[in-house]
Amino acid sequence: MTADQEMKAPQEADLVVIGGGITGLSAAYLAARAGKKVTLLEAGENFGGLLHTFTTQSGEPLEAFYHHFFTHDAEINWLIQELGIEQQLFFRKTTMGVFREGRMYAFNSPADLFRFRPIHWLDKFKFGVSSLFLARWAKWEKYEHVSCLNWFQRWAGKSSTAALWKPMLDIKFGPFADKVPLAWMIGRLRQRVNSRKQGEEKLGYLRGSMKTLLNALLKTLEKEGVELALGEPVIQVNAKDTTITSIQTEKRTLQAQKYLFTIPTTGLAKLFIDFPRANGQLQSQAYFGAACLILEMDRPLSETYWLNVADPGFPFGGVIEHTNFVSPKEYGGKHLAYLSRYFDLEEDFAHWTTAEIEKQFIAKLPEIYPDFNPAQIEKTYLFRTETAAPVCDLNFSDKVLPCHAFFDNCYHIDMTHIYPDERSVNNSIRIAAEACRVMKIDAPFVPKNLSLSGQIGF
Ligand SMILES: Cc1cc2nc3c(=O)[nH]c(=O)nc-3n(C[C@H](O)[C@H](O)[C@H](O)COP(=O)(O)OP(=O)(O)OC[C@H]3O[C@@H](n4cnc5c(N)ncnc54)[C@H](O)[C@@H]3O)c2cc1C
Repeated sequence: MTADQEMKAPQEADLVVIGGGITGLSAAYLAARAGKKVTLLEAGENFGGLLHTFTTQSGEPLEAFYHHFFTHDAEINWLIQELGIEQQLFFRKTTMGVFREGRMYAFNSPADLFRFRPIHWLDKFKFGVSSLFLARWAKWEKYEHVSCLNWFQRWAGKSSTAALWKPMLDIKFGPFADKVPLAWMIGRLRQRVNSRKQGEEKLGYLRGSMKTLLNALLKTLEKEGVELALGEPVIQVNAKDTTITSIQTEKRTLQAQKYLFTIPTTGLAKLFIDFPRANGQLQSQAYFGAACLILEMDRPLSETYWLNVADPGFPFGGVIEHTNFVSPKEYGGKHLAYLSRYFDLEEDFAHWTTAEIEKQFIAKLPEIYPDFNPAQIEKTYLFRTETAAPVCDLNFSDKVLPCHAFFDNCYHIDMTHIYPDERSVNNSIRIAAEACRVMKIDAPFVPKNLSLSGQIGF
């Protein structure tokens, strides 16, 4: 401890929340509403974690990593109402496509499946029936030890696995694709099917981007008396026997009755390295990264919102044309598209420079969009993270740590607690509510949707 830290008296709070992403902010909100004295510490220069935004040329904010909601997302809809920003929320029909065998196919309805040539007729039938089974009836607990890809090969047909499922898993999990348990896919499909009404998928977004949510949340937290500290990473945890006695940042030592860590387990492992009781369990988890290259253009690439690139040889797996969802008028007439890639931190790609990523990504666009001209790009933005999502491999629930872990007054939630569902803003709010319950904080009632998250570790 430095002399400066020793001089400052430890500060007491009922709860210190470590991590100012949506999970930490939601937990702070719920605890503050229950009358608790809360301090929230965020390492970065902004709150929001993966939800952070940047400013486009028009001055409008946009997410560094594309974000949307689903119609059935009860928790986020609840929070939006609580914060009084429901006027800013809208839901719109979106369009999806698949690029396979050198051409783009629309993929929005059962009729599109019939028109999708890369899948043989019998496999189309198998694809439909197996997807319905997973989305409606399968019990995820039974399929935790089953690899998605093996199951699809057997039940969805070889051509649909090759043309759709494998590319989709490659896009989402990169080199971990063959380890993904079917339980995860059940969570994912249930989410997607629930957001479709009469075959039409509607997705939600907030006018002014996720910044609208973050600003409203931060304003309310301030009003509720939460101490919000930016640029203050927790660098040390001090404990005696079974209790955390204090935590330290570079500026101060803090004491609280309870400590809620909402940072990825990889970061937690570093903080708990000196505690054998915690360390072993934490080492078993890994995260993978994501990169999004955003193109700001004078014209669109296509009319599709979400394109899965299912042909091999592309450095990115998805093209998300944001302005085919939110009008380009909101961005001074400019068109915005994300080229997205998830990656293993051990891959070469993790070390590519910004210039390399731009060059390699943009060079491949004419293969998908023959009319594309590099001159249509006015500006590019690149964002990367090393903690895009946890690697959920077979029997992953065995690896999820209890929320109340290691010490009497220590709690932890992160994206691993969302498994077997897909990590999302909505599910972050759910696990924050579950953590409050475990911490015996009498937080406001948060409605639940049909999500499978928040079951393991609580
Ligand atoms: C490419 C991409 C697309 C996505 N699309 C969607 C979508 O469409 N819809 C959706 O709902 N969700 C989407 N998500 C997921 C969503 O962003 C996450 O589920 C959610 O933001 C996770 O929030 P979190 O608070 O758990 O984690 P994070 O956002 O990672 O926050 C953790 C915070 O902890 C801080 N921290 C770390 N170490 C310390 C320390 N020692 N001390 C203090 N602070 C620390 C970090 O700086 C960070 O701010 C997407 C994610 C990605 C990457």
